[in-house]
Amino acid sequence: MAPRIGITCDLDDARTTNTLPRAYVRAILRAGGIPRALPIPEMEHTPGGLSPENSRWELWLSGLDGLLLSGGGDLAPSLFGEEPLSGLGSVDPHRDALEMALVRAARQRKMPILGICRGCQVLNVALGGTVYQDLPSQRPEGLLQHRQPYPGTFPSHSMTVREGSRLAQTLGVSTVRVNSHHHQAVRDVAPGLDVVAWAPDGVVEAIEAPEGPFLLGIQSHPERLESTSPPLAALFHAFVDAAGTRYAGAAVVRPATPNDAPDLARIQIDGWRSAYRGMVDDTVLDAMDYVEASARFLARLGEPGHEILVVEHGGRVVGFAGFGPSRTAPEEDASPGEIYALYVHPARQGRGFGSALLETALARLRERELFPAHLWTLRENVPARAFYAGRGGSAGALRFLALGNQTVEEMRFDWR
Ligand code: MN
Repeated sequence: MAPRIGITCDLDDARTTNTLPRAYVRAILRAGGIPRALPIPEMEHTPGGLSPENSRWELWLSGLDGLLLSGGGDLAPSLFGEEPLSGLGSVDPHRDALEMALVRAARQRKMPILGICRGCQVLNVALGGTVYQDLPSQRPEGLLQHRQPYPGTFPSHSMTVREGSRLAQTLGVSTVRVNSHHHQAVRDVAPGLDVVAWAPDGVVEAIEAPEGPFLLGIQSHPERLESTSPPLAALFHAFVDAAGTRYAGAAVVRPATPNDAPDLARIQIDGWRSAYRGMVDDTVLDAMDYVEASARFLARLGEPGHEILVVEHGGRVVGFAGFGPSRTAPEEDASPGEIYALYVHPARQGRGFGSALLETALARLRERELFPAHLWTLRENVPARAFYAGRGGSAGALRFLALGNQTVEEMRFDWR
């Protein structure tokens, strides 16, 4: 399953209707994510202010893999202990409360967060930083134009990226031209975050967490430029990829035990059902004896010299890999070690479990000097994906076949 990205909405001018610019939706889709809108509710006014703690914000994030904070109006200065200056723009306390709470909940869940424009400021303030309420009056010296009076599909000022930062690694360039539509900007960066990009006038254009889950705030609107700027497109890919693999970090890969047998059969049978749905007539599907086939397959894994690794997440076995010495040589490049099965439960695919299993399984083969590994029925995300690896001396190429759309990617592994 593709990573699901919650995108916070903005409000229309009358503040009666949630809005979500299509550029965010497109950018997330193009990066391989599934967009989900997070609307701004009307909260209850209590003597202590708005009452966000009644709203069980953490539940808003269940089923999501990443949080995108979108652009919008100004942040209320009360959030960082200031009185409103005369130049402060339009604020919405409901949106502020929602987004502050979502950032905290996402951080607790170790969920990747991308803050765009206002979202960059939200991230900074939620984590203890401050913003300029009114950039032109508070920081007038040499200030460039940060509210371009033309569409955001045209870049305006440049942005210089800090060398060695995660952002620099993602973008692959040290400067990039961005658009600019902001009234506020990061002033004091929050503890634990780094400033990683600046406009030529020194205004902060990006902040990030130097380690831990993906957390990036960018002051411009990359969603409106990513279709023409490969570095900015890479930014969305990095975010969506982080959302897709965030679970793998918490996954445990371990040898299977006899107690795992029912889980392995379930994963395999559900995987086959998912694989053949739509490809084979339902009556044929119903006639297939999945249980019997799975039992035969798993019996093979129990043969001498064969091993099964399982990947466990949240106390549940979500996938397994079987490997051992090769018995058959169906290809001319057959080799003494092979991984002949890799399954991730269809409901848990696309989150990096398969990669975690693969890495461990390859390491085990190498320990047993069963290399180069020959992977010939290694499958994940069937029918969308299949793996095949051929031998290549000390380095083998693992081809990653996306059968669904016929694209083929190559990943190179060093077998030594
Ligand atoms: Mn700017």
